Amino acid sequence: MNTNPFHSLGLDDRILRALVDQSYETPTPVQLGSIPRVLEGRDLLATAQTGTGKTAAFCLPMLHLLNAREGRSNKHVRALILTPTRELALQIGESLRTYGRYLPLRFAVLLGGVAQAPQAKALREIPDIVVATPGRLLDLHGQRLIQLDRLEILVLDEADRMLDMGFVRDVRKIVSATPATRQTLFFSATLSPEIAELASDMVKNPAVVAVTPVASVSDNITQKVLFVEQADKLSLLTEILREDSVRRALVFARTKHGADRIVRQLERKGIRAEAIHSNKSQNARQTALAAFDRGRTNVLVATDIVARGIDVDGITHVINFDLPNEPEAYVHRIGRTARAGAVGTALSFCGEDEVSLLFAIEKLTTSPLSDVNGHAFHSTAISAMRDRKRAAQQGTGSSSRFVSGRPRRNHPLSSQRRRYHPAAAAATGARVPHAA
Ligand code: AMP
Repeated sequence: MNTNPFHSLGLDDRILRALVDQSYETPTPVQLGSIPRVLEGRDLLATAQTGTGKTAAFCLPMLHLLNAREGRSNKHVRALILTPTRELALQIGESLRTYGRYLPLRFAVLLGGVAQAPQAKALREIPDIVVATPGRLLDLHGQRLIQLDRLEILVLDEADRMLDMGFVRDVRKIVSATPATRQTLFFSATLSPEIAELASDMVKNPAVVAVTPVASVSDNITQKVLFVEQADKLSLLTEILREDSVRRALVFARTKHGADRIVRQLERKGIRAEAIHSNKSQNARQTALAAFDRGRTNVLVATDIVARGIDVDGITHVINFDLPNEPEAYVHRIGRTARAGAVGTALSFCGEDEVSLLFAIEKLTTSPLSDVNGHAFHSTAISAMRDRKRAAQQGTGSSSRFVSGRPRRNHPLSSQRRRYHPAAAAATGARVPHAA
């Protein structure tokens, strides 16, 4: 009997194999809620943020359906994923490559800011799936380089950001070029009345999936920020890892390359560490995890991609060597410590170009991080930069919710990005398309 919980969702074996390669063992709530409904052919209205596993929630059933249906050999674009930013488009392309690696489906990523010719060439080969940002897609569509009239599945990813970024007219134009028979999967981090209205024009009788946002941090975690020049980060890390209280540390780097470099440099300083990221083979990852779990290695250096698969108790410290680009990832990262009622410490290194990332984290978690300024590598310049930026935000009355370092929960702006909750949406009159 197969015990992989993904099995019960009805996905093709080749997709399951790709998930095993990624060490995905348990579907996340948004995946559990979405995948079976999409496989049934239902439209979907999902409220889920980055970090919840939403990309796989739409990619996996889409790959399954396209592969299972006749029409694989048909010469038309069969699925379109619209997404607001280039980075997201590239990430989704990467996810499709990963999840679809054993399937004979082709895809192309279309985004602005780069030459059009290679994208036009990819379109001539008629990919099954296109991932695109709205502007470039409309351009190419206007030049008749892509047809959308036989689309089977349309995904709108991060619809609230598309709205914020002023793409709504483009999105509506694109949607009007697709057939009414399509299946539509609508994803948004929030469900404001405007978003609900946009969704209600695009989805039909959708299954509704809402996952609770991940913005809450356990009170058992002591969170601190350390201002440090990029060039001093490694020395600071070494010093911290030599402290007795640091018994088991999970260190986060932004890139795979960065994670490998940290491990090499730590080992040169006599600290045993292992890296775990998606370039490592399944075996290498499992060996590193087992060594960490059993206490043979006390320092594991990871990227966000694989962090979800790390389920190890007794992590005393999470150290953000680099701050994450998405504030939600911060909450996921530090949630690896203080598990099962234990206490833990989360230390975040903030370099000169990371101050705005720090603000995004503080905004999401609604609590400012206190700084450790007694460490040997403290950068007063970066700390002062944080203070100036914060003062400027407060001076202009912009989005900072902190006054004197404390969250202003009643600030009128604090409700602007309030997360969607079905009952709250009903109370505020948000138009929610028919629930499942
Ligand atoms: P997303 O919200 O789609 O940006 O995904 C966040 C991160 O979680 C990505 O790094 C994914 O690779 C990872 N991930 C998604 N689903 C799972 C899962 N079921 N198990 C482990 N990791 C996952």
